[in-house]
Amino acid sequence: MITRKTDEQIELMAAAGKVHARCMQLVRKKCRAGVTTAELDEAAEKFIRSQGGVPTFKGFRGFPGSICASPNAMVVHGIPGPYTLEKGDILSVDIGVTLNGWVADGASTIAIGEIDETTRRLLDVTKESLDLAAAQMVPGNRVSDLSNAVQTHVEAAGFSVIKTLVGHGIGQEMHEAPQIPNYGPPGKGPEIEEGMVFAIEPMVNVGVAGIFMDDDGWSVYSEDGSMAAHFEYTVAATADGPRILTPWDEG
Ligand code: MG
Repeated sequence: MITRKTDEQIELMAAAGKVHARCMQLVRKKCRAGVTTAELDEAAEKFIRSQGGVPTFKGFRGFPGSICASPNAMVVHGIPGPYTLEKGDILSVDIGVTLNGWVADGASTIAIGEIDETTRRLLDVTKESLDLAAAQMVPGNRVSDLSNAVQTHVEAAGFSVIKTLVGHGIGQEMHEAPQIPNYGPPGKGPEIEEGMVFAIEPMVNVGVAGIFMDDDGWSVYSEDGSMAAHFEYTVAATADGPRILTPWDEG
């Protein structure tokens, strides 16, 4: 069952999303060569708590970090730690913020200094696929219209959509129904209704679509070691169209 949020509830989620967006901007500013992902984690947690929020990921199924920090071929769920950023790296940063019981979830892949041309294109294409999917978050569309928007754009660029990881509904729980795959034909699945809020999150590899999990039980890598990107927004379907509740790329 997909819950529909009232206008008041969407405002509460937007408040969590505002903290999220500011946290992402803060982390992005700190992302430079020589910085460890543990330092980013610490800064993010401190900021979220200073705003009265809670880092949603911390303790989730035992996850030790406040953010996920996944460099280069690591797609998602990286545990912050001693990894030290280098020029030419990319870092996928995923942040969850719970504020007054409502959750905002979003991710961005950040370039550390100059990156090679293929990796730059990976980041651009993955972000564009998120924007195209978010634009489909309109009452009357179906869930797979989002999926199809991602897949079509990513595959036209010659990259691979990861099929075994999905986006999700979101609200008072981080993971609510429905699941939102990043591939599939348009016009399928549940109809999107006003008040539904989804975390849309394309995950894309330069090379093959396959992934594997590290021995740590969390870190997910591209199977062929190629660079991977992850961009995510929490988006509400409103009468006025899609509303991005985690506007981390504004300002
Ligand atoms: Mg998510």
